[in-house]
Amino acid sequence: MKQPQSANEKPTTALNFLEQIIQKDLKEGRAGGRIHTRFPPEPNGYLHIGHAKSICLNFGLANKYNGKCNLRFDDTNPTKESLEYVNAIREDVRWLGFDWEDREYYASDYFEKLYEMALFLIRKGKAFVCEMTGEEIAEGRGTPAIPGKLSPWRERPVEENLDLFERMRKGAFPDGSKVLRAKIDMASPNMHMRDPVMYRIMRATHHRTDDKWCIYPMYDWAHGQSDYLENITHSICTLEFEVHRPLYDWFLDNLEIKDNRPRQYEFARLNLNYTVMSKRKLLELVEGGYVNGWDDPRMPTISGIRRRGYTPASIRMFSDKVGVAKRENVIDMALLEHCVREDLNKNAPRVMAVLDPVKLVIDNYPDDHTEELQAICNPEKPEDGHRIVPFSKTLYIERSDFLEDPPKKFFRLSPGKEVRLKYAYIIRCEKAVKDASGNITAIHCTYDPDTKSGMGSTKKVKGTLHWVSAEHSVEAEVRLYDRLFNEPSPDNAAGDGDFKESLNPLSLKIGKALVEPSAGDAKAGDRFQFERTGYFCIDPDSQPGKLVFNRTVSLRDSWAKQQKDK
Ligand code: ATP
Ligand code: MG
Repeated sequence: MKQPQSANEKPTTALNFLEQIIQKDLKEGRAGGRIHTRFPPEPNGYLHIGHAKSICLNFGLANKYNGKCNLRFDDTNPTKESLEYVNAIREDVRWLGFDWEDREYYASDYFEKLYEMALFLIRKGKAFVCEMTGEEIAEGRGTPAIPGKLSPWRERPVEENLDLFERMRKGAFPDGSKVLRAKIDMASPNMHMRDPVMYRIMRATHHRTDDKWCIYPMYDWAHGQSDYLENITHSICTLEFEVHRPLYDWFLDNLEIKDNRPRQYEFARLNLNYTVMSKRKLLELVEGGYVNGWDDPRMPTISGIRRRGYTPASIRMFSDKVGVAKRENVIDMALLEHCVREDLNKNAPRVMAVLDPVKLVIDNYPDDHTEELQAICNPEKPEDGHRIVPFSKTLYIERSDFLEDPPKKFFRLSPGKEVRLKYAYIIRCEKAVKDASGNITAIHCTYDPDTKSGMGSTKKVKGTLHWVSAEHSVEAEVRLYDRLFNEPSPDNAAGDGDFKESLNPLSLKIGKALVEPSAGDAKAGDRFQFERTGYFCIDPDSQPGKLVFNRTVSLRDSWAKQQKDK
């Protein structure tokens, strides 16, 4: 067994509670030893990092236990759903590295069967057509302590219910004029059991069934039966559905389904600080123009973090580290960023790029001369070999790497001091040239030709700087992202106010960078480490001759420090 790395890291062999349940089920031969899960999104928005957790969990368990995992769209509300969302969800699940093979299903595939099942319940006297308005039903439900009122239509004869329900389907009644309700218990302490609505009349064109239906099943009616129809063994969902479970079981009981019943297990949803995850709020950010679309790199959507440069492996790693909890908790964004750094550190090729350039001239270096220096692509992956970085008399370095009047422990460049230019030579600063208003326009240095990197020089200096050659570097746009919100929990911080009040006005800064030429022909999605600066990826807005880089994540976690300094 692997030893724990720290006090709060569990040994990797510890099973989460779902794995324990599955192993027990396998041992006892439940469901013939089958494991079948599903990921059931409603196609009414883009998926976010919380959904990613659910995807990794459902597909992950199926993979681990030789089972299967379906992708099922719970498409029961055509007014909010669309093909755009279906396609985005498909792309996101695939991108995360999971395969549902030919098992792509839709609740709408089951509309006919669900209708038949509803007829079955009506015939048993377990469902009735109710003519109360939505408002009346809501008012009549009571509170957990006070029983609800019985619908005046509750005792309709079966024949009348059958006739009305059939005519509801045929379009005989206006929208909202009638519903089908389960006849359960208006005094139940569980509000979900108080004669819940199963069908509503709604003339809306569905992205799959078109205008075939004008009655649509409610999510609670469709969901459990869909799991049953797909032979799902473990219906894994988030904690808020725990109180729906008795209803799902009631439906299965009253449909007289005995074999192959899905069992539902609930886990705590993933909450992350410094962001919001409700689809409604994300939609509000998109529609209000607070971000540039669902795939804005500041969004917690899967399409956003993909564009930001996060990797599928880092999301899977994050999902693993978060684990499966039974109680609500909030995960620190820093953990997600840590996983991203871990993966990029191993896999992203290094390049040098200067984000805030100041010119550096090596006075004793020959004019019009270029040397091709060897630089390691990735010290974590020696097999990736070397790249060529051109060196010449005029370079750019970071403005912040020079101080005219440095404090004691400043090991970068200042007058009379020496540093190494990465992969190149040791240089000594001779003087800085300023313009009329005192801004430094150029730093003049001399180099020591005997100190070329890799040539056995034993001379040591404390600082090493990244640089680019003025003549050879490529200009690029850089988009520097920060957290979308200033508050750890934007939802709560707002109180009765608006969560958008805690939006971070500095969440996007656009700047320019000079990049070494090896990155010059990179393609959208390519990821790099800008040495000493951070991880960056190429944005799809890039065009030939106009590179756009997104900062994926800084090299170290500077957020905690910044907050402290504030
Ligand atoms: P809504 O129901 O408001 O539209 P939702 O986020 O629940 O939003 P669904 O499409 O119903 O969206 O979610 C699909 C699956 O993802 C569900 O099984 C749900 O439990 C799971 N899920 C949603 N949010 C999270 C989260 N933050 N953490 C883990 N799983 C989640
Ligand atoms: Mg939901």
